Amino acid sequence: MSNIAEMVYLDYAASTPADPRVVDVMTPLFGAGGDFANPSSGHTAGRRSSAHVERAAGQLAELLGCKEEQLVWTSGATESDNLAIVGAARYRADRGRHLITMPTEHKAVADVFHVLEKRGFEVSWLRPDDTGVLDPANLEAAIRPDTQLVSIMQVNNETGVIQDIEALGALCRERDVLFHVDAAQSVGKLPLALASLPVDLLSTTAHKVYGPKGIGALYIADRPGCHVEPLIYGGGQQGGRRPGTLAVPLIAGFGEAARIARCEMQENHEHLRSLRERLWSGIRDLDGIVRNGSDSHSFPGILNVSIEDVEGESLLLALEPLCVATGSACNSTSQEPSSVLRALGRSDLLAQSAIRFSFGRPTTSAEVDLAVARYREAVARLRDIAPGRAA
Ligand SMILES: *Cc1c(COP(=O)(O)O)cnc(C)c1O
Repeated sequence: MSNIAEMVYLDYAASTPADPRVVDVMTPLFGAGGDFANPSSGHTAGRRSSAHVERAAGQLAELLGCKEEQLVWTSGATESDNLAIVGAARYRADRGRHLITMPTEHKAVADVFHVLEKRGFEVSWLRPDDTGVLDPANLEAAIRPDTQLVSIMQVNNETGVIQDIEALGALCRERDVLFHVDAAQSVGKLPLALASLPVDLLSTTAHKVYGPKGIGALYIADRPGCHVEPLIYGGGQQGGRRPGTLAVPLIAGFGEAARIARCEMQENHEHLRSLRERLWSGIRDLDGIVRNGSDSHSFPGILNVSIEDVEGESLLLALEPLCVATGSACNSTSQEPSSVLRALGRSDLLAQSAIRFSFGRPTTSAEVDLAVARYREAVARLRDIAPGRAA
């Protein structure tokens, strides 16, 4: 076990640390003497708590380019995805029982569709091309008169591939089909202007963008037919769409994270781009290396590579003290190769050797250089001890 000081954290797609400015906003909201009161209470203390929530809603709405009333606070992107898909499916059940998504979606979306399939909905799983990008023509061909909802993520969490949500959403609008976007990896990282985008439902989470864990939001467009049935029932907060006492400190932290992300987006983007270039140019000459995902349509904070004749789990161990993800990061309880990489046409073996490096604001070029050195060493060492491989 390496200690924290020796760790090189390159797993920002799994979670980011809260920005110190976010922590400063949140800390005073927990204890006595701070604004801890229930924001639903009508007294002075309640109104003070409520003001923090309103400010945060304004900050998040500004980042997303939408109105504050269009946001529902949730516990994160998993809940937002569930509320969007199950909530809309329940509300619009009379409209038809056909749904469309992709096998490259996060589990928080894909598993919801698996459950709905068992409950009598029919799901079309659209495959991307071998770089991970979906051709809008494939969506157009899949939409039927009984299609009620399409769910496609903006930035893929394993490969960084970006889908053209504007083109995909426009096709949905034409046919009066609801369009949900899981934007957990893109909010605060790519510019978004929801007021002018054909998106009906959009999921976000704070902890992927230097906010706290346990808070997210669902954007719901105010259009006729765009409505979700609640998944839980209670005190009627948030118009009954998601009741329960609001998590004021977490919400305030999310608001501050959104404010920072908006101000520093361009600068962060350049930083990530140069880190990814540095890493890829340090390893791209290795024999049998394959980049997973599109070079032209991708978010620069993620680099996913597979390599021939190297076993993934051994590689992960050999890479210590780098904290990176394997191809099966999101199914860490199973040894199944990533369904995302299989959808890109990778063999099981190649998918199993996949390593996802993901960078963040705190990442330095020295850390990337160390990752390059570690990766090259680990690959050479594992190939050396693997029996039966010609040198
Ligand atoms: C992290 C992530 C989620 C889950 O978000 P939580 O806030 O951890 O529930 C969902 N979708 C994508 C694309 C993600 O990257």
